[in-house]
Amino acid sequence: MRLQALDLWLLVLLLVLLLQPVHGTPRAQDVSLGVDWLTRYGYLPPADPSQAQLQSLEKLQDAIKVMQRFAGLPETGQMDTETIAAMHKPRCSLPDILGAAGLVRRRRRYALSGSVWKKRTLTWSYPFDGPGGTLAHAFFPGEHPISGDTHFDDEETWTFGSQDGEGTDLFAVAVHEFGHALGLGHSSAPDSIMRPFYQGPVGDPGKYRLSRDDRDGLQQLYGKVSHTPYDKPTRKPLAPPPQPPALPPDSPSTPVPDRCEGNFDAIANIRGETFFFKGPWFWRLQPSGQLVSPRPARLHRFWEGLPTHVRVIQAAYARPLDGRIILFSGPHFWVFQDRQLEGAARPLVEFGLPPGEEVDAVFSWPLNGKTYLIRGQQYWRYDEEAARLDPGYPRVLSRWEGAPPAPDDVTVSNTGDTYFFKGTLFWRFAKGSVKSESDSPQPMGPKWLDCPAPSYDPQVPNRPKMTPRTGTCDCQCELNQATGPLSVTLLLPLLPFLTGVAFSC
Ligand code: ZN
Repeated sequence: MRLQALDLWLLVLLLVLLLQPVHGTPRAQDVSLGVDWLTRYGYLPPADPSQAQLQSLEKLQDAIKVMQRFAGLPETGQMDTETIAAMHKPRCSLPDILGAAGLVRRRRRYALSGSVWKKRTLTWSYPFDGPGGTLAHAFFPGEHPISGDTHFDDEETWTFGSQDGEGTDLFAVAVHEFGHALGLGHSSAPDSIMRPFYQGPVGDPGKYRLSRDDRDGLQQLYGKVSHTPYDKPTRKPLAPPPQPPALPPDSPSTPVPDRCEGNFDAIANIRGETFFFKGPWFWRLQPSGQLVSPRPARLHRFWEGLPTHVRVIQAAYARPLDGRIILFSGPHFWVFQDRQLEGAARPLVEFGLPPGEEVDAVFSWPLNGKTYLIRGQQYWRYDEEAARLDPGYPRVLSRWEGAPPAPDDVTVSNTGDTYFFKGTLFWRFAKGSVKSESDSPQPMGPKWLDCPAPSYDPQVPNRPKMTPRTGTCDCQCELNQATGPLSVTLLLPLLPFLTGVAFSC
């Protein structure tokens, strides 16, 4: 059957050849390869000997034209030497046309595979498929065990970040294959990474940007990232440290604490990840809510340059102005760019705090961009741009209605809610609100740390002193120039319209 069908295609091709200019006439084996190639990559349907010859001629010319579009060649519909040369170029092994409707011109140029991931946390690995003519391939999303897998041919000479044409740019091929693994098909758009043929190196991976076509395709599948004041341009999460050297046998070992016991020294949102510090250890929670590891990492191995005598981080926050990460211990603080220490220990008086003062908690509030420094039952508000404390501080912490005194730390989540932590509990303040939610406090373990729920009801025993809730708000943060008992929470959405009125907390 297959041979008969091929014979039929060969007849068709002879007709096509008759229509070609004399120069560049392909050889019979090229024609045979061409038909095979067009079938393998989806441009031609699997051969069917019952098809009428004339219809086949039209389809073949259409198929060659579409192939030429993907290859960036003039759409002549003829099997010319350029077209045959393109068929010999290195390429991805996936078909370019998916399904019977593939030959219809799409209004959008990006192509979707038709399947999509429901989960948002993906893992990957690279089993090699041995020597072969193709660079790599990938599997579309789905439920099959191999769905989403991406394979690279280790017989290729892979290069990384190379500017010249030597070897094959691993990054360029990986971006293409990951596009498939996320659900993109091949595209004919000129600047798309999803073109089926290897286009050469893409240069510095750190500066690489997807083309409009590829972004449109992915956003069609997974939606757009919304940008609100709480979704600042994201900085990349901190890279893990290199593999640690083995500890010498006489090294003093510190017992590894149990994260489910709570009582953290500091908790901070650093570039979308939540860091939980306890003694010389810390845990990291990815933006997806998954722990990087149930075992804590060592403080000094990660924060390069942090003096070894610092055994406890009392507070931490990421400075919104420049993304620097500030760690506090005792009356000092240290400034980090990524994981590297900048300069020496600095005294807290630089924040305008009294000499010798320490802090329990520090956080930056997205609502006003100010930094809050909490000690015991009082707090200061620091203006990062003016580099000084705001006047009128310290104030009593109970202005944050329901907040526990001397919290272990306070941080703002990726959704903009403010969280106070103390012991094994957390108090949630909805985005922009200075009044804790009615279901606060709750146990941290199940929500934050992949720990079982406690057997007791955290809201009943040992509940810290809470301000009684009343119908009229006994607001402890005021709107300047406003008098009387106003509900701050209710007024917050109106803030943009209240020109000349400054929110003060
Ligand atoms: Zn591909």
